[in-house]
Amino acid sequence: MDTIIAASRNQHKIAEIDAITRELGLRVISRDEAGVPKVEIEEDGVTFEENSLKKARAIMEMTGKIAIADDSGLEVECLGGAPGVYSARFAGEECSDRKNNDKLLALMEDVPYKDRHARFVCVITMVYPDGKTLVARGECYGHILPEPAGENGFGYDPLFVPDGYQRTFAQLSPEEKNSISHRAMALKKLKALLMERES
Ligand code: IMP
Repeated sequence: MDTIIAASRNQHKIAEIDAITRELGLRVISRDEAGVPKVEIEEDGVTFEENSLKKARAIMEMTGKIAIADDSGLEVECLGGAPGVYSARFAGEECSDRKNNDKLLALMEDVPYKDRHARFVCVITMVYPDGKTLVARGECYGHILPEPAGENGFGYDPLFVPDGYQRTFAQLSPEEKNSISHRAMALKKLKALLMERES
């Protein structure tokens, strides 16, 4: 079975990707398992596409093997798409999920519910040793609540109510979230792209 090296160290993400690629004869292992040098790849792009391509390309160049990377975040319409690619560090370098959520709520204090549109975005990029790339973007649309609700998940989950639901991502079960999330949508698209490439 061919091996794909993941730029991520998040075992949960790696397992999710592996479940899809395995069906197509490709096994995903983490960069640490592959013995990739522990250099940080700076996420200095201004789009999710740029960041995921940069990470995947760097890993492919270090290993000579197929590499995969993802980048994700939250885009809020009334904030011109912020926090976007800065989602993880929205409240500064020493931030936490709590501080990021507090900052977002403060910025949206006077915004009525009808104008609190947002979407989560996930872009997964695969880079092959011959330089070819596959790019899969997934999106999940919803609203930002005026206060957090729910204990599940991470990041902005307690503030985000996906369209068609009355609960936040943090109030959905992991199975429910994983069936509609931006990451699930990107993985679905990746599977279709891989199947196209194999056929
Ligand atoms: P990453 O690129 O997947 O590490 O995600 C960057 C940041 O986006 C995270 O630190 C979170 O703040 C936010 N984010 C991405 N996906 C989710 C999600 O599914 N729920 C909540 N926050 C997320």
